[in-house]
Amino acid sequence: MTIGDNGFIKELNYKTVLDTIRTNGSVSRADLSRLTGLTRSTCTVICDRMLKQGIIIETGTIGSTGGRPPILLQINNRAGAVLGLKMMEDMIAGATVDLGGNIIHQQSISMKSELEPEPYLTLFESFVSDMIERHRSTYPLIPVLGIGIGVGGRVSSDGVLLESSVLGWSNVPLKKRLHKRFSMPVHIENDVNTFAIGEKFFGSGKSYENFLCLSVGEGIGLGIIIEGKLFAGSHNGAGELGHTRISFDPDAPQCACGKQGCLESYASDRAVIRTYYEKTGKLLTIDAILQAARQNDVNALAVFSRMGSYLGIAVSSLINLFDPQALIIGGERTNAAQFFVDELWKHVRANTVYDLAKGVELIVLEPSNDEWIRGVAALAIREFFSNTTNWR
Ligand SMILES: [Zn+2]
Repeated sequence: MTIGDNGFIKELNYKTVLDTIRTNGSVSRADLSRLTGLTRSTCTVICDRMLKQGIIIETGTIGSTGGRPPILLQINNRAGAVLGLKMMEDMIAGATVDLGGNIIHQQSISMKSELEPEPYLTLFESFVSDMIERHRSTYPLIPVLGIGIGVGGRVSSDGVLLESSVLGWSNVPLKKRLHKRFSMPVHIENDVNTFAIGEKFFGSGKSYENFLCLSVGEGIGLGIIIEGKLFAGSHNGAGELGHTRISFDPDAPQCACGKQGCLESYASDRAVIRTYYEKTGKLLTIDAILQAARQNDVNALAVFSRMGSYLGIAVSSLINLFDPQALIIGGERTNAAQFFVDELWKHVRANTVYDLAKGVELIVLEPSNDEWIRGVAALAIREFFSNTTNWR
């Protein structure tokens, strides 16, 4: 064995111990040895180093059957923080998040719609530097380790925003520019993909290796986790479920993408609003239709149920294709889950082969404005944990 191999194994062991502590929450040294298969003394050496580095802390003891009670170890969430940001057409939202995914601070600014990249990015950079300064003056002992950004559109693996119909931009080298400006790691990803990464890293997808994240609301998006990793496709365009064509009817509704008959034009907020209008002649906002459904308005109930049917047919195809362990439903329209999820699942159960749906865990997230933060923060935190040279 060469010295290089030895270093590699040391690094691998270090990373294995770190991942085991992170995914298990809090563990004793004996648990670590059992969970990783490494010897007790190897685990002790690595843990001593991590304690010195400040990345883990001792949190107390658990009951023991005899002798000294074992001390528990966990990640020191305050060993660092990351910035998570969301770039939207009319708003920039940001959060400072610790290594455990806890929000330390949140802020946002409104933006004028249809801004060109240059004026938008100038404002974005001053928003980010304001957040960094604010954090550094309030928490001087918690270093900012990186930046994670979610944006609607197709993002290349080297952080170029290839195209975004939401912002109306194409080929903007976001990562390069922001890395140069802030001199720290910057990670950029499609917003629905960040949702899936966040669920895998922190959320309800933590214990699954194969699952699908369906985002419902203004758009219909899909994040795909296969064998524990995000599947982005060969051209970073995978998961555009909303723009799969489901109708060849020449009168099929127009989609926001410019094509006709996409799933999004049958199951997004716009579709709910349009169908309600066709039924009643009343043009209401999505919130007003939701309010009407809560008061048992039959037309409002019918349009949400119709949305559920279309989504269910689409999801049944996904289950036939991917045979996942779980389907996680998120997005702003989970606040109407009680009005569409039953119908969705009914169509899934009726249309999957081999009764595959039976083995799929259905998870509907609580409506929350914070779910995106978990995703963008996970982008930066995940990279940080995967690079153990950060702790040399
Ligand atoms: Zn479309």
